[in-house]
Amino acid sequence: MFDLTDPGVVQGILRRHGFHFSKSLGQNFLIDPDVCPAMAAACGADAQSGALEIGAGVGVLTVELAKVAGKVVSLELDQKLLPVLEETLAGFDNIAVVNRDVLKTDLSALIAEQFGGMPVCVCANLPYYITSPVVMALLESGVPFRSITVMVQKEAAERLCAAVGSRVAGAVTVAVQYYAQAEVLFEVGRESFLPAPKVDSAVIRLTPREAPPVQVADEAFFFSLVHAVFGQRRKTAENALSAGLGLSKAAVAAALADCGFAPSVRAEAMTMEQLAALSDRLMKIQ
Ligand code: SAM
Repeated sequence: MFDLTDPGVVQGILRRHGFHFSKSLGQNFLIDPDVCPAMAAACGADAQSGALEIGAGVGVLTVELAKVAGKVVSLELDQKLLPVLEETLAGFDNIAVVNRDVLKTDLSALIAEQFGGMPVCVCANLPYYITSPVVMALLESGVPFRSITVMVQKEAAERLCAAVGSRVAGAVTVAVQYYAQAEVLFEVGRESFLPAPKVDSAVIRLTPREAPPVQVADEAFFFSLVHAVFGQRRKTAENALSAGLGLSKAAVAAALADCGFAPSVRAEAMTMEQLAALSDRLMKIQ
């Protein structure tokens, strides 16, 4: 078995396979010996459950997941890593590497095909260029994941786990809070990666909710409103919503007033309950 946290060992394997890191695929591999075991423990996978990883790299987290989970499925887009993984994961019989783009994968079908009825935890050091789309794809997949434990850029962690109604909240914060409870578990410095990125990271855990924290009359309209109001966050909510939803300013102003907002209110001041109330009120003038 290889020590995949030893930079010399990893560089040796990669050199033998003629592999070169791709910045555009977000290839920064973990080399801190404490991080992967901590992530595997935090995701809660056990012998009766499966683990889905996104982006195997050289397999440093994959092997830690294989030690705790009944089965591990790891999606890896880069074909050049497949022969590397064949070598580094050779000692394990409960790992399947799937050469696919996570954003072009029907996650629900993949989970049914690979895990049968097993409960599944997601655990991954995400490629940072697609953090939000991957988190959204996981939450919107309809798969009842037991937990989603992912490493993301520190600033993204703060945004994903922020309170709705706080300064850093964005559309993705609302979506995360709608589907899950979110927490930052621990921070990971840039020196924990090979090559070292220019940013620090954090591991977050999303625990999907059984039911959303607010009831809305029309979920699709609620999310259109959220995208409209946060999409132009420097504008007042009145301007952002009338432009984003194609409604007259007067109608939006009346709806905002009915919901108790000051005329100058901006998205960042709105709580989940207020966004839900506004959505239901604006639905009536659609
Ligand atoms: N898990 C490894 C680790 O922690 O060292 C690798 C993490 S690295 C930050 C992200 C990995 O995701 C890379 O191996 C990259 O090739 C892969 N990747 C990038 N885009 C992907 C995509 N769209 N679908 C699946 N894997 C992708």
